[in-house]
Amino acid sequence: MHRTLTIESTEKVGQKIRLSGWVNTIRSHGKIAFLDLRDRAGMVQVVFPPNSLGMVEDLKSEWVVEIVGEVKKRPENMINDEIPTGTIEVAAESVEVLSESKTPPFDVDTDGKEVSEELRMKYRYIDMRRDRIQRNLRKRHEIAHFFRNFLTDEGFVEVETPILTKSTPEGARDFLVPSRKQAGHFYALPQSPQQYKQLLMVGGIEKYFQFARCFRDEDIRADRQAEFTQLDMEVSFMSRDEILELVEKMYISIIKNLFPEKRIKEVPFPRIPYKEAIKKYNSDRPDLREESDELAFAFVVDFPMFEKVDNGWRSEHHPFTMPVEDDPEKIKKNPGDVLAHQYDLVLNGNEIGGGSIRSHRPEILEAVFEVLGHNKKEIREKFGHLLDAFEYGAPPHGGIAFGFERFLMVMFGEENIREVMAFPKTGDGRGLMMGTPSADLVKDQLDELHIKIINKNEK
Ligand code: ASP
Repeated sequence: MHRTLTIESTEKVGQKIRLSGWVNTIRSHGKIAFLDLRDRAGMVQVVFPPNSLGMVEDLKSEWVVEIVGEVKKRPENMINDEIPTGTIEVAAESVEVLSESKTPPFDVDTDGKEVSEELRMKYRYIDMRRDRIQRNLRKRHEIAHFFRNFLTDEGFVEVETPILTKSTPEGARDFLVPSRKQAGHFYALPQSPQQYKQLLMVGGIEKYFQFARCFRDEDIRADRQAEFTQLDMEVSFMSRDEILELVEKMYISIIKNLFPEKRIKEVPFPRIPYKEAIKKYNSDRPDLREESDELAFAFVVDFPMFEKVDNGWRSEHHPFTMPVEDDPEKIKKNPGDVLAHQYDLVLNGNEIGGGSIRSHRPEILEAVFEVLGHNKKEIREKFGHLLDAFEYGAPPHGGIAFGFERFLMVMFGEENIREVMAFPKTGDGRGLMMGTPSADLVKDQLDELHIKIINKNEK
């Protein structure tokens, strides 16, 4: 007999079925007992009449069992509208225990908000059994799947780019990986695939996207993890407006298909110049909602190219952004006046994406790096590969990247990014379940990597 999912049992009234899953709860009423069985599709009630009570006696919550029984219609007055299988129940004929469970550290039939974060993270594999996390992870997949299909239909190709790479500036610290074969050399984990996606444009891919893992060694906050996912895109031969229109079409389409109950406040999405946003809303990611259940999308455009910092200038977005000014001398002379072909997508006061049209002329890129304080030698060392590539027929190009988890948080109404990731880390970057980062390295491993750990006291 094939396994039947709990949700499929409603179609099998009168038939004998085999269910597999976890014991959610057991309610014993003397002569009769009820067991709620949970699987990936939901829950179903299994009844044990007096002559089969022995079967449930020893069972406990979170044990994994296989139950064979007959599907029966519930009497009218016993129908439970709260669950999709509430019109039926399964009369147990046999129970087999597939796996026992210790008493779990917390209940999984709540939303988990009453349990401490630390405990939830340590036992994430139990925590994720709860309905809220199950729903978030499954919906996350649906959304990713939708984006993939949408972009594929638009002629985009998903291309993977290296994780062991070279530093690419996005404004955070890099995570470094020591090289065994090249003593004293390090790879950097990508803060984004920025340079690779631009090189893909030089390579003629024209329309690229990727669900890209990004790594930024910065303080973790409620809406930020050191390791996260971007829906990353880059296109050739498209103007800024064409890119924004595509983005708009994509988000309208996803809301319509996957969140039909939600209302988008304004279409086309308003485009607000940065200066106006700051003046009017005192923020470059204004919340434009009037009623709380609206989705207020907006593009913020015309950002300044550089931001003044103590010791010079910093890129507002990143150095690969094309300045509106295209005279290298003028860029160097008055960096503060230069605007950028940069745009952000804002949703309900959250920046959910950002991108730009890129500089594909080497002399402009060099001028920008100079403003940022790099000398010619450094520019060569750090970005020579990109400047070289741009000497071989670089198409005009631009792109954008969306913080995937941040979008999910807004759509699911979650206040912490951890709730939309399977295995998130704590605020100070520890993975409590696996015990990462770990110090239990074998001495040989460090030797091979040419690394010596020096205690602060020894120094
Ligand atoms: N790489 C940029 C970022 O991560 C996005 C982009 O410019 O496409 O913010």
